[in-house]
Amino acid sequence: RTVYVNGDYLPEEDAKVSVFDRSFLMADGVYEVTSVLGGKLIDFDGHLARLERSLGELDMQKPEAFDDLLEIHRELVRRNDLEDGMIYLQVSRGSAGDRDFIFPDPKEVKPTLVLFTQSKPGLADSPAAKTGIKVISIEDIRWGRRDIKTVQLLYPSMGKMMAIKAGCDDAWLVEDGFVTEGTSNNAYIVKDGKIITRQLSNDILHGITRAAVLRFAREAQMEVEERSFTLDEAKAADEAFITSASQFVMPVVEIDGVTLGDGAPGKVAPRLREIYLDESLKNAI
Ligand code: PLP
Repeated sequence: RTVYVNGDYLPEEDAKVSVFDRSFLMADGVYEVTSVLGGKLIDFDGHLARLERSLGELDMQKPEAFDDLLEIHRELVRRNDLEDGMIYLQVSRGSAGDRDFIFPDPKEVKPTLVLFTQSKPGLADSPAAKTGIKVISIEDIRWGRRDIKTVQLLYPSMGKMMAIKAGCDDAWLVEDGFVTEGTSNNAYIVKDGKIITRQLSNDILHGITRAAVLRFAREAQMEVEERSFTLDEAKAADEAFITSASQFVMPVVEIDGVTLGDGAPGKVAPRLREIYLDESLKNAI
């Protein structure tokens, strides 16, 4: 596999960054994951715009190659013969040579830019989309700037492990009784035909898939309400689902052991998945 590191395309065994890199020492880095279907990028512009925003919120410089990112993504797809899968991109504040809480002077340190591909044949035909997934709920103890896509992923990773230990697939995070989002996805419920998902704020990541799915839902005359919902409301919902760049729209059929509806994906989530995949493929670049 060929990996991109700071301007070079390298065999993965030669792709390295410094031990002083601030993403390694301080989780001082941001990332994006873009899906690839049929060799084309899904929602690329959205991911690029969010990357720019994450960098700005953290006073991080744009990498020199920022304007070439589309070309770099495409080159990695070409070099790795990627048909279906994803491209992971990470920018860190760089490596200053010493471990220090103070940000290094941007005149002296350049951001680190790394991209690599992960192949997932048949990504869009995931069997889980037919059966739906099971989630547990856990307390949301993450920091208060979840709108910035940082590489501080230890708690989401622990949450996923707790879910697996409980025989489930993923975890929903709950704060003051309200669902914020999933470990690596946005969370939705459906009640009486209405799609309900938490409003945008610093409490959740502004999902690129979320934005597209809500737009398509409204265009299809489906009713959408952006507001916080409680865990109890979710357990009493007709349907639930999650969205993310790598899972698209994925039905949720069980929350904390409580079965939703008849335990199979309902009508809304599968329909949204189909619309999202159709439209995204049409617009893929
Ligand atoms: N929420 C969190 C915490 C995430 O990590 C992610 C994606 O990784 C999402 C939501 C979904 O965002 P997107 O649709 O842009 O992948």
